Amino acid sequence: MDNSSIAVSPKKTFGKALLYTLPMFLVTFMFITGGKPDFSDPARTVAILVTFFGMNLLYFLMHYSGKTDRYRAIIFVIFALTLSFTLIRNMILIRNSMSFSQADILECKIPFCHLVIPMMILPAALTKSIIFPGTILGGFADIASMVVLWLAATVVLGRGFCSWGCFYGGWDDGFSRLRKKPLVKKISDSWKWMPFAVLLLVALTAALTMIPTYCNWICPFKAVTEFEKVTNVESAVKAGVFISLFGGLVVALPVVTRKRTQCSFLCPMGAISTLSNRITPFTMKIDTNACTQCFKCVDSCPMFALTREGIKEGTVSMFCSKCGKCMDSCSRNAIHFGIRGVPAGTRKNFSRNLFLFVSFLFMAVFSSQPIVFTLNSLYNLIF
Ligand code: SF4
Ligand code: SF4
Repeated sequence: MDNSSIAVSPKKTFGKALLYTLPMFLVTFMFITGGKPDFSDPARTVAILVTFFGMNLLYFLMHYSGKTDRYRAIIFVIFALTLSFTLIRNMILIRNSMSFSQADILECKIPFCHLVIPMMILPAALTKSIIFPGTILGGFADIASMVVLWLAATVVLGRGFCSWGCFYGGWDDGFSRLRKKPLVKKISDSWKWMPFAVLLLVALTAALTMIPTYCNWICPFKAVTEFEKVTNVESAVKAGVFISLFGGLVVALPVVTRKRTQCSFLCPMGAISTLSNRITPFTMKIDTNACTQCFKCVDSCPMFALTREGIKEGTVSMFCSKCGKCMDSCSRNAIHFGIRGVPAGTRKNFSRNLFLFVSFLFMAVFSSQPIVFTLNSLYNLIF
């Protein structure tokens, strides 16, 4: 066994880690402040500074400690919580309620979410209509900017979107970390194919009914964002489904299995991101010379992307969300971020640095405004 590649540790000295953080400092400052820093409002100033320094501290720690998932997960979970807070607070400010009415639907006042995209494609191709009642351009969470951002993240990160860009992934990611050890260890990984069935079902039913069926009937995150006002049996059944799926797939199952069960078993966007993993420039690689086949990475993976057979052959499946949890658990630095075409075990540090810069940038773009908004609101509520 050639142990030379173990020497390539992702840890860096303080000075080097700081040097790697400087470009992120500049870029995040530009888009968190919009390029025109305005510090006249104390609440917003505090919110901007906490977000800016907090994000860059976590990025610095990724380089300094060599750990990825440990610090990624902090922002990812905060992102999910603050996004829900932002949506709910905005809806209460705009219409005094977390629920929306038929009038809001007719006036296209519903914030757009990337989970609708698979249901829009067929109706848009067949009838040239967008079946989601949101603002096309220029409003809060408008359709055009959300589609462009999601498309860019999916092409560059593939299923990495599910661990670095998704608005909701932080919910089941967070709950999957609450227990140190899983209560349920045996869970069939065949369930990971389920999102493809969900994708097919919602794409076809949306094309037949011209209604975004996943949003209307299945999405667990309606329980923590916005949903139709309960006025009759149908809307009551929907609310019951949303709350049950949230309680089961987003809270209970992740806690007992330590797996991200909502993202792995139900999300139709997860199916698209999984397929896009086949074309993205970044992939996970296994350095079989350094690997001792301890299989700690297999146990730690929350997305059912690793198998013992795969590790022996040096392969990671297309279900990988590039969260970095397996890397953090590997004491040999044998599983690592890689670039397509570059052999496993080579250029490990370069690949990791490049992937971290790109993926963190996407995460900062998606998450910074909800975090700033939430801190700003909390400051105003407290002081
Ligand atoms: S944790 Fe590292 S050494 Fe152990 S099986 Fe996974 S890649 Fe190999
Ligand atoms: S293989 Fe590693 S990076 Fe991919 S999802 Fe599993 S733990 Fe995360």
